[in-house]
Amino acid sequence: MPSEANADPTRTDAARESHRRLSLGSVESLLATTSFGLGVLDQDLRFVQLNTTLAALSGAPVAAHTGRTLQELLPTLAPLLTPLCRQVLETGAPLLDQNICGRLPAQPAREQCWLVSGYPAETSADRAVGIALLVVDVTARQEATQAVASLETQVAERRQVEEALSQSLRQAEAAEAQFRGLLEAAPDGIVIVDHTGTIQLVNRMTELLFGYNRNELLGQPVELLIPEQLRDQHVTHRTGYMARPATRPMGVGLELLGRCKDGREFPVEISLSPLHMGTDLLVTAVIRDISRRRQAERELRDTAARLARQTTELARSNAELEQFAYVASHDLQEPLRMVASYTQLLARRYRGRLDDDADEFIGYAVDGATRMQQLIQDLLTYSRVGTRGLHVEPVNCTAVAERVVADLHAAITESAATVTIGPLPTLPGDRMQLGQLFQNLIANAIKYHGEAPPEVALAATREGQFWHFTVQDNGIGIAPEYAERIFVIFQRLHTQTEYSGTGIGLAICRKIVERHGGRIWVEPTPGPGATFHFTLPAEVAETE
Ligand code: ADP
Repeated sequence: MPSEANADPTRTDAARESHRRLSLGSVESLLATTSFGLGVLDQDLRFVQLNTTLAALSGAPVAAHTGRTLQELLPTLAPLLTPLCRQVLETGAPLLDQNICGRLPAQPAREQCWLVSGYPAETSADRAVGIALLVVDVTARQEATQAVASLETQVAERRQVEEALSQSLRQAEAAEAQFRGLLEAAPDGIVIVDHTGTIQLVNRMTELLFGYNRNELLGQPVELLIPEQLRDQHVTHRTGYMARPATRPMGVGLELLGRCKDGREFPVEISLSPLHMGTDLLVTAVIRDISRRRQAERELRDTAARLARQTTELARSNAELEQFAYVASHDLQEPLRMVASYTQLLARRYRGRLDDDADEFIGYAVDGATRMQQLIQDLLTYSRVGTRGLHVEPVNCTAVAERVVADLHAAITESAATVTIGPLPTLPGDRMQLGQLFQNLIANAIKYHGEAPPEVALAATREGQFWHFTVQDNGIGIAPEYAERIFVIFQRLHTQTEYSGTGIGLAICRKIVERHGGRIWVEPTPGPGATFHFTLPAEVAETE
């Protein structure tokens, strides 16, 4: 039967008309209710037709729009829409998806955005006589996009913060590892206690010093490491320290003791420093075992006492020896003078009257007696330097040296020596002894000459609290290995036939210099010869 129905033309036309109306109505109601704003404007941009969505922009009813301009109804958006509409009118070409943003009079606080498309309507002579506007509110989308962007920024920032955090965490971990390493490697015991005196942390050295395992110490009162009889006192000190914490050694002037797990006590040195952890106050104690130091101090004290005893003993026996030497040489002088004068008498009276042997023997006896006299004389001088008190007065060394040179006139002429005396100071000393010192050194410098005529120079320079003298010659010199020996009494480097002497002169020099508080030594002269150096305290000395 459907073929019959289709065959009825009347019925077909009516159905078609009804169908067209239905579809037009649907379009109109669709346009009226769509969320897109739709409208038609004439050439003067007056509203011809529009739907409720578009009308809602101005807030006026749809009917109130007809015949009124964009400018009148949407004054805030008109400056943006007008150029767009004009372009469509002038070109006759559609302009699609133009993004415009602005504020509506009804919601001035909120910026809104729309995508606007303009289509030319009813063109004539290539110009549009109207314009159809399609306005889509994209505020929500825009806001969502912005929200997404801001979220992304936040996420990125958060990532940065997290990265920075984990980096500083890594650094903190590394620092802690370093701290731990240092703590464990420290050569001293380190104990950290809280404000109640409870042990919070100890290092390896603490375990070794006190013989406890660290688990036996953590959480225990620090008094565990202190001899029992000192514990109460320590609690008082500890409380006092907490009230006024500062970095300082503990118990200055006190003998501090540590106590091991096995009860053994040992001397310690402790330095304390406060450690502020937030609101909590911790105290770090660095503990050093000073048993060895104490032992060394005891040994040092013993050694010093022994040395002092030995020095006193030595001084006493030296004094006795000097006294003996003095008495012996003094008492020997008289009989020796007799021996010498009688042997000389024998020589004078009997030379040539007995046989040749007798002459030779008498000669030896005279020689020996003379040498012995010289020796006794020198020994006496040496003893006197030690036993007689120093008579200290300001001594003009230049005058003393000139006097010595005058006394040595014969030896100087005989050897064609030149003796130069540099500027010498006036200094406090024993005039006789300083004269003896200059005399011995200058005489030696002339006596121990080489091929060339002796050249002797006496000079002095100020060095701090001392005057530094030098007696320089161009003679035979002294091998460095004998530099010490020559100052010892009776030590000679030559036989009597080479150079006469008793071996006492330099020992006397050393004794004089040391009694004055100075020092004497010898060095080779650059080139041939020897240079004797000695120092004497300057006190209120001045160069002339
Ligand atoms: P003496 O001159 O009576 O032997 P000294 O005590 O004065 O005794 O000197 C000790 C030794 O030091 C001398 O025997 C000599 O070998 C050496 N000596 C001293 N002065 C000099 C000098 N200026 N040059 C070289 N040798 C010297």
